[in-house]
Amino acid sequence: MAAKLEGRVALVTGASRGLGRAIALKLAEEGARVALNYRSGELEARQVADEIIARGGTTFLLRGDVSVKEEARALVAKTIEHWGRLDILVNNAGITRDKSLKKLTDDDWTEVIAVNLNSVYYCTSAAMKAMSDQKFGRIVNISSFVGQAGNFGQTNYSASKGGIIAFTKSAAIELAKFNITVNAIAPGFTETDMLAKVAEPVRQQILAKIPMGRFGKPEEIAKAVAFLCTDGDYITGQQINVNGGVYM
Ligand code: NAP
Repeated sequence: MAAKLEGRVALVTGASRGLGRAIALKLAEEGARVALNYRSGELEARQVADEIIARGGTTFLLRGDVSVKEEARALVAKTIEHWGRLDILVNNAGITRDKSLKKLTDDDWTEVIAVNLNSVYYCTSAAMKAMSDQKFGRIVNISSFVGQAGNFGQTNYSASKGGIIAFTKSAAIELAKFNITVNAIAPGFTETDMLAKVAEPVRQQILAKIPMGRFGKPEEIAKAVAFLCTDGDYITGQQINVNGGVYM
């Protein structure tokens, strides 16, 4: 059976680790050529690229800070320059700077909004011209259940992730006529470096609240992203919850 994303070109931001890594591997497995963005983890990004190539896939690395508009837009431009098109954009790069509102600094606020939310606007606005010309685009934004439910110590993060959901809906309305779908995935707590930062007693408290009784795996998020790209032709403006039931 032919790979479903044969001939497609994807760009995944924050692809050196965690969810971005799993998403890049999955899209490559489905046949897409995948550009891998990273900011500081060149060695890790290179390992992801090596893994894709070892499995017969095609990829290249793109260093860039998605919170800087010129760098974010250059990621899109370089992917198009390299492969002549861009079909799939996964806005995945994200950070946390968790503190209660009382302790939160202006820098904690600004940095999280810049990396998590501004980047989605920069990359999407850069990608839409090529996608509109092609009359094909699949944009997947990685939000979080925290953007839906809120969470103690995450006002900055939840605002960025809730912002992504609202952005997704408006962009979906505007871009539908070009056959560009825009959707958000809202993962629950998933086993990555981001979750590893959480202290063990807090992890146990979180686990107790997840109906499925375990954390998610990056591959489970990646499957949902891939589905939107391979079979989600009539799905747009949606939030797909992949969260073990932690938020319904
Ligand atoms: P992670 O393991 O900490 O990885 C974050 C990735 O983002 C890394 O590849 C990192 O690249 C990249 N990154 C960070 N800042 C960047 C910047 N300014 N420019 C470019 N790349 C940047 O995190 P994760 O858990 O995989 O999270 C991925 C996404 O899923 C995030 O948007 C996160 O908010 C969301 N999410 C995660 C969970 C969870 O439980 N893990 C739950 C819900 C949503 P370098 O290392 O190369 O700097």
